Amino acid sequence: MNRPYTIATLGSHSAMQILKGARDEGFKTLAVANRETERLYRSFNFVDEVIVVDKYSEFMGLLPELEKRKSIIVPHGSFVAYLSLDEHKAMTTPYFGNKAVLDWEASRELQRDWLTRANIRMPKQFKTGADIDRPVIVKLYGAQGGKGYMFIRDAKDFEARTAHLKEEFTIQEYIIGVPLYIHYFYSPLEDKLEIMSMDRRYETNVDSLGRIPAAAQEGMDVSPSYVVVGNSPVSLRESMLAEALRMGDDVVKVSKEICGPKGLFGAFCIETIITPDMQYYIMEISARIVAGTNLFIDGSPYSYLNYSEPMSTGRRIAREIKNALLTNNLAAVLDDSSVL
Ligand code: AMP
Ligand code: AMP
Repeated sequence: MNRPYTIATLGSHSAMQILKGARDEGFKTLAVANRETERLYRSFNFVDEVIVVDKYSEFMGLLPELEKRKSIIVPHGSFVAYLSLDEHKAMTTPYFGNKAVLDWEASRELQRDWLTRANIRMPKQFKTGADIDRPVIVKLYGAQGGKGYMFIRDAKDFEARTAHLKEEFTIQEYIIGVPLYIHYFYSPLEDKLEIMSMDRRYETNVDSLGRIPAAAQEGMDVSPSYVVVGNSPVSLRESMLAEALRMGDDVVKVSKEICGPKGLFGAFCIETIITPDMQYYIMEISARIVAGTNLFIDGSPYSYLNYSEPMSTGRRIAREIKNALLTNNLAAVLDDSSVL
């Protein structure tokens, strides 16, 4: 009999969701954990095996072990945080997703080019501080989870607060509106895009400044920060869903032109801010499962419409892999570097 495949991932971010989904779809499951998280992952009965490393950067050394277990790697946010682009590309272990997308995602310029071609509205970008003519947000390169971002009122404020910065950064128009993160899944097997769920982030301290009246803030030395600590669910005005789907469709369509032929497939997220005239502005795209989907391990109102059973994004990934195996088409859902 054929040995079953194992779904393997790093023990953090959305690993519980991914591995629970994998188990529900009949796969064996493996978490690579560190000393602090080992106990957590061992405590769940849907995790078949836990391999412990001292640092997540040791993941590359484990690939032969994973291959012995017939593993398929499902990447999440920690993979881009803890492994380099080169390491991603060096892996030949079966990998869910298209690594060619990584270059387009990692470079803010390429990402902008991609989204512009998909007819997506983005905040204006400023090249230098002198060009600033409105409030902006300064984003440090490589910053994770909004750390170190700065809200800046004008060119003078920019001079004063960025002079000491050593890191590279981008300057983006600050959009005043509500942030909404839309989680999609594109199935290459069915050529179909689904909206899985959506969330808003809970960020400290920007999400609490509104609790202090503006008049009371005057003279206080407090500026907004954007460090993410959690997520909460949102359902969108139904009339705005059609445009959400349109944006996702066009992002996938253009991805097939720029990093084709497979393009972007599987889970992805577009991070939007919606203004009072109900326009979406896109801050960023994330080309894999995002942590906001953890709210919906039991499914979301949107995934229920399609499945009538609990369908998390993690489970949807496992279902796609399963469907690929059942139709003898595993290569369609893996990066082309995958040696089967
Ligand atoms: P962690 O596993 O917590 O170290 O997170 C790995 C990466 O995912 C980091 O870049 C985090 O900033 C990001 N991340 C973790 N949790 C969330 C979340 N709830 N929302 C958005 N990003 C997150
Ligand atoms: P990001 O790293 O792009 O996911 O951004 C992290 C957080 O910074 C977002 O969730 C927003 O709260 C805030 N943010 C990012 N870009 C903008 C923008 N152009 N205008 C207003 N807020 C922003």
